[in-house]
Amino acid sequence: MNKPKIVIVGGGLTGCNLAQQLDNVADVVVLEKKKTYYNNVGSLRAVVYPEFVNNLFVPYKNALKHGKFVQAEVEEVRENEIKIRGLDTPMKFDYCIIAVGSVYNFPGRVPWWIGNLACKKMFNDCNAKLAKADRITIIGGGAVAIELCGEILDEFPYKNVTIIHSGKYLMSKQGLGEKIGRHVQTKLQAMGCHIILDETIVLEDDDELVKSQANLNVSLTIPSTNEGNEEMEGEKKASEIVKKFTSKFLHEGERELKSKSGKTYKTDLTFFCTGSSFPCEVYEKNFMLSKNYRCRTDNYLRALNSRGQCVPNVFVAGDCAGTPSNDGEGDCATLTFGLAHVEVIVKNIKKCIKVGSNTGFQLPKEYVAPPPIICVSTGRYGGVAGQGTKNGDGKLLFNFCGMNNYISKTLKSTHLYTDGTHKLFKAGKPKPLEVPRPKKTHIKSAKVQPSKQYEV
Ligand SMILES: Cc1cc2nc3c(=O)[nH]c(=O)nc-3n(C[C@H](O)[C@H](O)[C@H](O)COP(=O)(O)OP(=O)(O)OC[C@H]3O[C@@H](n4cnc5c(N)ncnc54)[C@H](O)[C@@H]3O)c2cc1C
Repeated sequence: MNKPKIVIVGGGLTGCNLAQQLDNVADVVVLEKKKTYYNNVGSLRAVVYPEFVNNLFVPYKNALKHGKFVQAEVEEVRENEIKIRGLDTPMKFDYCIIAVGSVYNFPGRVPWWIGNLACKKMFNDCNAKLAKADRITIIGGGAVAIELCGEILDEFPYKNVTIIHSGKYLMSKQGLGEKIGRHVQTKLQAMGCHIILDETIVLEDDDELVKSQANLNVSLTIPSTNEGNEEMEGEKKASEIVKKFTSKFLHEGERELKSKSGKTYKTDLTFFCTGSSFPCEVYEKNFMLSKNYRCRTDNYLRALNSRGQCVPNVFVAGDCAGTPSNDGEGDCATLTFGLAHVEVIVKNIKKCIKVGSNTGFQLPKEYVAPPPIICVSTGRYGGVAGQGTKNGDGKLLFNFCGMNNYISKTLKSTHLYTDGTHKLFKAGKPKPLEVPRPKKTHIKSAKVQPSKQYEV
């Protein structure tokens, strides 16, 4: 008997987990525009240790036993077929899972079309800028901003790093509660970070670009996948990309940042950690969007078409899923939720395959969002693990005798999931980073008092 064909659009961690779990029951094809997987969780460490990039690109070739990863850029998912860039005939499927994830500014993520060489150059360039700058400002106070700050202060403890966040506490938009945000704040302050809360920086016209990497891709005229990443690997091309790209994302040189409250802050280097956006161009023509441009789903994680009706054989998973949680805004864009989506979709599709139909019966598993859990690292040697609670306060996990820090360090901070991703993609072992811990000298003496230094 022919196995049904499942096409997964997007080979991120969600897409890969789905593919592996459905590999035995179906003919699985993953359409992924990147040549290799890129572990963005480790991206921020490469800002201070550019050689860490070597551990972040993970080849897809051994990930599946039966199915396959195909390098292809999907232009449009329709209710019964998929339009691929460069191909006239659309691809048909029995089931489709949209798992196109999210986009984030450099250095949180790198552009999908970039090759290994250009990527290394980008991080080298960023590292050189960082080494030169004294006053470093991170706009945004979510998990990415925190982790970036931790990495920088681990290696450069004497630098003046400031986080400017529009919320009343760190990670205020991640549904984890104030207690966890305040705990992270204390930790970063002990490392020497200056934190300004409840303050919104007005982005200049040019900065508007960095809000959306998608816009930036358009403005740089990105070559199609078919032109090949090989070309982008060329030394000359790599330098060109680095020059164009990093100058958009990293503002080097003395600059004054203006806030909505009328204050001005001076900075030498600015990072924009202003949140994720979603590659909705893939699904917006034929499916319903949530307010934040995710693909809306029903309670079984089936996509809703533009008329709001559920499409029985198209599912949505991972960051791009506009699940019914939070009044249809979807879940926080973390893997905890992505993996919960995987569990539901695998169970539902397996049942459909067994019954031989995808309509006319009740799907076995309804999606119930798990509580948000976070493990945020504050450099290589520590971190904070916390969980959102129903009353909204949030709680720290294993909060006794330094265990919270120890667990966070062991589970995440030392390796940033490089081991886990290599294992998932059956790609051998990554090379551990063998750099001694920098000595924490002169933190107090070398730093200018933030209030004097920043506010003009
Ligand atoms: C710096 C950083 C640190 C993070 N740390 C953590 C953490 O510690 N823990 C945690 O749980 N979460 C973390 N996250 C969030 C986590 O990375 C995401 O939740 C996770 O990557 C989502 O996986 P995904 O498969 O849904 O999407 P993605 O990882 O975004 O994968 C989507 C894939 O789809 C592909 N794609 C997109 N469009 C197309 C197209 N048109 N055609 C073909 N392919 C396409 C993309 O190339 C990509 O490979 C972090 C995020 C950032 C930015």
